Amino acid sequence: MTNDTNRESTMEKIISLAKRRGFVFQGSEIYGGLAGTWDYGPLGVALRNNIKALWWKRFVDNRDDMYGVDAAILMNQNVWKASGHVGGFSDPLVEDQKTKKRYRADHLLEEKGVDPKGMTPAQMDALIKEKGIKSPDGNALGDVRQFNMMFKTHVGATEDDASISYLRPETAQGMFVNFKNIIDTFHPTLPFGMAQIGKAFRNEIAPRDFTFRAREFEQMEIEYFVDPRNEAEVTKTFDALFDEQVAFLTRDLGLPAAKVHKLEVPAADRAHYSKRSVDTEFDFPFGQKELLGLAYRTDFDLKAHTTASRVDLSYYDEATKERFVPHCIEPTFGVDRLALAVLADAYAEDTQGDEPRAFLKFSPSVAPIKVAVFPLLKNKPALVEKARETFMALKKEFGAVTFDDNGNIGKRYRRQDEIGTPFCVTVDFDTIEKPEAEVTVRHRDTGAQERVALSALSEWLKAKLA
Ligand code: ATP
Repeated sequence: MTNDTNRESTMEKIISLAKRRGFVFQGSEIYGGLAGTWDYGPLGVALRNNIKALWWKRFVDNRDDMYGVDAAILMNQNVWKASGHVGGFSDPLVEDQKTKKRYRADHLLEEKGVDPKGMTPAQMDALIKEKGIKSPDGNALGDVRQFNMMFKTHVGATEDDASISYLRPETAQGMFVNFKNIIDTFHPTLPFGMAQIGKAFRNEIAPRDFTFRAREFEQMEIEYFVDPRNEAEVTKTFDALFDEQVAFLTRDLGLPAAKVHKLEVPAADRAHYSKRSVDTEFDFPFGQKELLGLAYRTDFDLKAHTTASRVDLSYYDEATKERFVPHCIEPTFGVDRLALAVLADAYAEDTQGDEPRAFLKFSPSVAPIKVAVFPLLKNKPALVEKARETFMALKKEFGAVTFDDNGNIGKRYRRQDEIGTPFCVTVDFDTIEKPEAEVTVRHRDTGAQERVALSALSEWLKAKLA
C-alpha cells in the first residue's frame, strides 16, 4: 500500500467511525447533502463543547485581561467594506472548460509540485498555461480569477444594494466594532483582549478533507490590544500568545508536540492587514496543514473603522496623557479543525486478546464520555440497581457518564473504546455482597483492569480525569 492510499484509508476509517458512532454527519444528508456543511451528533457536540470550554478557561477565565463578547453574525455591510473583505477576501479560482467544475488554482499547482506561495493570480495563470496543467478530469482550464468568498444576503424585505449583508467570514470584526463599547463600559487599561466564539462562513471554492475545509465553521478568536509605542513589548506579547496557543494544543487538548509545527508566514502570503503572521500547522492524516493562526493586525482595523464610521476608536492613556490607536495581535482558532485534529490523532488500532479493535485514545479532558458504568449481568436486578445507583452518583459529579447493559462485557468495552471513553466501571457480585464493596475499573488504552473500593471510586476518577 502506498503512503497516499494509507492516508486515505485512515481518513476513510475516521470518517466512517465519526458517522457510525454519532460524532459527525454530512449536512442535509437525506437530500443528498450540501457540500461543505457538516452536522454534529451528540458525541461531536460533546467533543466540541469540551474544546470550547477548555479554550474559554485558558484564554478568558484564567486571566484578568480578557473581555468576552458574542456579536451578531449579520453586520452592516459597511463593516466589510471598511475591513477590506468586500474588495479583497478572495481565493484564486480556475474553471474546467468542459465540466465547468471549479478549483482553487493554488491547490492545483501544489498538486503538481509547484509552491504557489506569494504568487499573484496572473502569475498562477501564466504558470498553469506554461506547464499545460489540466483539470483533475484531464480537461483544459480557463483563466485564473479572484473569487470573493463571502456569502451575500439581503436583510429585510427589500432586495436592493442598501439591504446587502454578508454572513461573517471571521468573528474578528464583531470585536473591532465593539471596541468602544468595551472601553466605555469596562475602562480597561492596555494591554487587554476581547474574546469570542462563533460561527463563520466562507464560500470555499473546493471544500475538502472532511471538516477541515468547510463552508460553515466555528472560530474562537482573540483580539489582543497592545501599546504600539513599545515595540519590544509588542514582540514579547506576540511570542507569549504563540506559546499559549501551543500550550492549549499540547497541555489542554493532549495533542503531541511532535505533530505541531510553527510556520513564519512570508510577507507575500500574509493577509492584507498583517505585519507578521505565524501559522500553527498540524500533521493531519492528509498532510501538514494549518490548524491555527496568529496575526499582528497592527492598527489596521481600528483605523479603518474610525475612517469609515467616523467614530473615534482611539485609546486614552491616563498615565502619559496621550491618545493613540492601539495595535492588535490576533490568535485565531478553528473549532472544527481542532476537533478533527483531536479525532484523527486519537484514532488507533490494536488487538485485545485475539480481537482487532479500533479505539479513540482521547485525552480525558476532551473525551465526550468520561466514564461508562455496567452491571456485570443484565438479568440480576440487584446488580442493575447498584450499577444504576453508581451511575447516577457519578453522573451528578462528572456529567458525561453513560450506562450500558447491552450484550456481554467484551462488546460493551469495544463500544466504549470506539468512542474514546477512558474508564469503564463494572458492578459485580462482590460489589453487592462484600462488606467492603469494590468495582472493576478498566483502562481504555491498555485494557488493564483493577479493583477499586466503591467508597473511593469518585476520588480515584477525579484524580485520573484531572
Ligand atoms: P486556509 O489557508 O486553510 O484557508 P486561512 O489562512 O484562510 O486558512 P484564517 O483566515 O487564518 O484561515 O482563519 C482562522 C482559522 O479559522 C484557521 O486557522 C482555521 O482553523 C479556521 N478556518 C478557516 N477557514 C476554514 C474552513 N474553510 N473550514 C474550517 N475551518 C476554517
